[in-house]
Amino acid sequence: MKKKIKCFNSIKELIFNYKFFISKEIKIKGWVKHFRYNCFIIINDGSTINNLQIFIDKKFSSLVKKINIGISIEVIGVLVLSQGKEQNIEIYANKIKIIGKFSPEELQKTILQPKTHSFKKLREQAYLRFRTSIFSSILRIRHNISFSIHKFFFKKNFIYINTPIITTYDSEGAGAGEMFRVTNFDLKKIPLNEKGELNNNLDFFGTSTYLTVSGQLQGEAAASGLGKIYTFGPTFRAEKSNTFRHLSEFWMIEPEMSFYKLVHNMNFAEKLLKYVIKFVINNSYEDLFFIEKKNKRKIFKRLNNVLESSFERISYTNAIKILKYSKKGINWGEDLKSEHEKFLAENYFNNPIIIYNYPLKIKPFYMRINNDNKTVAAMDIIFPYIGEIIGGSQREERYNVLLKRILELNLNIKSLWWYLNIRRFGSVPQSGFGLGFERLIQYITNIDNIKDVIPFPRYPNHAYF
Ligand code: ATP
Ligand code: MN
Repeated sequence: MKKKIKCFNSIKELIFNYKFFISKEIKIKGWVKHFRYNCFIIINDGSTINNLQIFIDKKFSSLVKKINIGISIEVIGVLVLSQGKEQNIEIYANKIKIIGKFSPEELQKTILQPKTHSFKKLREQAYLRFRTSIFSSILRIRHNISFSIHKFFFKKNFIYINTPIITTYDSEGAGAGEMFRVTNFDLKKIPLNEKGELNNNLDFFGTSTYLTVSGQLQGEAAASGLGKIYTFGPTFRAEKSNTFRHLSEFWMIEPEMSFYKLVHNMNFAEKLLKYVIKFVINNSYEDLFFIEKKNKRKIFKRLNNVLESSFERISYTNAIKILKYSKKGINWGEDLKSEHEKFLAENYFNNPIIIYNYPLKIKPFYMRINNDNKTVAAMDIIFPYIGEIIGGSQREERYNVLLKRILELNLNIKSLWWYLNIRRFGSVPQSGFGLGFERLIQYITNIDNIKDVIPFPRYPNHAYF
């Protein structure tokens, strides 16, 4: 009779259930991480930061030459409690099958040596980063952050909706130069009109189209029937800001809540951020711990500080007073630069802060005008080190006020007519915000560059892999 072998789908599953399989024969697969003293093969399969040690005895002597870091193997062996300090369990190998092999010389010459590399170096081989401990840790944390966001909204009875990626306008009122054009024109024979301009009517959609910079306006339409919705999708910005916190393609979470005013918006955003941080501490503890050790960066202390504090709320006007008093050379009415935000969150309050009620002139048309007629019900959440992580507002729900604002700003009524109609039929107070997914991951993992918290980063002059 054939012996029954327990096949594990992942090392994570094995570690979770090991107590039931001690002294039993099991099967597991993975990539070789280390090979020590010609008898310990250490494998990992990406499911967890924890490796699995395989012990091979003398009968494998012919196999030893074929083992090198990076190859993939299948192991059948007996699960035993380990003598070593580093791990609870190990496998005493009976059978080892090499699944995928290669010569280490070839790898070293052409790609990368199997050793620790800088983040920058790894970026040049982004498709291989998944094999490194640090990057797979970051991505498992990213996964848990994403999951916890969906979980939070699910518990709060929000409806997840998907907004279009191809759009015809810019909700932020930014210049089209900051948006990626979408076209199927044959670039060799672009149709021009009599004035020598692009004839967009002949383009695929009969008009000029762009990759979305935000799903907010469509989100507002959805919230006006579904009550509370959120989007979680890709967002594109063609700004040439190649900084440590900007990507050309990033992911944004945009909740939109009917019947919420600005203060509810702030409370909700703070709750969401704290929920996610708590979830990740509980569920990604080992990966966070690994990154903290490896990068010699504080992670838990920072995150616990956020959980214990209530975010400082300060009006734009008071923020300007502090900045003036601290001789930061800024006047009321000017937009805060990232160095101003940095000063307030990092040096002055040393805490996440919420700045609200910004001047009307520096914010987009859809934000609700306050009674002073000078400010709008906007709120930005600023984190130390990262800067703006959330930008949001209460929306202008009064049809006449909104129409007047659109006309004053000379915005294209022909493309905004449908948005105006949301406010004509049963309009209600509404609020929402945009949370930058990668900025949140960056803060939680304390990774310097945003390019290292997304699987395949897109930034100026870089669209490889
Ligand atoms: P910043 O001033 O930092 O460039 P923004 O004012 O352009 O931000 P919004 O348009 O309000 O940002 O976008 C909402 C959120 O999306 C931001 O709070 C931030 O978390 C994130 N975000 C914005 N631009 C980028 C980008 N280029 N890469 C990654 N995340 C971004
Ligand atoms: Mn920006």
